[in-house]
Amino acid sequence: MSKHRKFYRACALILALSFVFCLLCGCNAEDDTERETSNKNKTTSQKNENSQNKPQGKVVALTYDDGPHNVRTKLIADELEKYGYHATFFVVGNRVDGKTYNGSAALKYVYEKGNEVAIHGYTHSVYYDECDDARYGRELSRTYDAIKEVVPDAKVRLMRPIGGRITEDRTSECDYSVIMWSVDSEDWKYKGRGENGELAEENINTIVENVMSQVKSGDIILMHDIYENTYEATKIILKRLHDEGYDVVSVSELLGSRAKAGTKYSRLPS
Ligand SMILES: [Zn+2]
Repeated sequence: MSKHRKFYRACALILALSFVFCLLCGCNAEDDTERETSNKNKTTSQKNENSQNKPQGKVVALTYDDGPHNVRTKLIADELEKYGYHATFFVVGNRVDGKTYNGSAALKYVYEKGNEVAIHGYTHSVYYDECDDARYGRELSRTYDAIKEVVPDAKVRLMRPIGGRITEDRTSECDYSVIMWSVDSEDWKYKGRGENGELAEENINTIVENVMSQVKSGDIILMHDIYENTYEATKIILKRLHDEGYDVVSVSELLGSRAKAGTKYSRLPS
């Protein structure tokens, strides 16, 4: 074999080897991309599973009772959206179906922004440790029906008794998780305006301090979306919670898969 031929053969061999090597590299690169993507998906799904089971970092659930209100409930939902936060709205059935008020648009609005909607009562005129079984059943079922009529896809898992009052038997037999609270804003006490009809800063600040002086991770905060001072206080509370590094979520997001029907929760169990 001539020197030249040997040289050409060696070149051809190197070329062939390079080609095979490149192919393998190419495959590896693709594999890596796939692996990375699948790891990413796995991390996301693990994260979702984890956040279902236990929220990471400082987190509180914000709850609003007695609505919906076509102005204030929507304004609160807009404020929550600014921070990517969610809340749970425990609604009054006859304010949803138009019997006493037509808040269906507000209910739809908050739900479509990713908030949770849940049951308070149909008339808000009886306590669940006093009324008879038939009345108690109707208060819940008519509120459920009113919600589903407006937002059929909503998963209704929670109930907050009127005044937080319910018998132990009704709690344990309840088809929903029974949700109380661990921080009371007492916003209903401080709902008024000033003497000259101006917004009462003092009242708003009291609501804010009632929440901010007590709040800690895992709490469920009680407010009422029908009052204008509650909306004003909400703006300040959300900013301060955000500045203090809190995530604000709905009750179902806070409790995750641990939430059981027929069980009472006042905060995230430790
Ligand atoms: Zn109420």
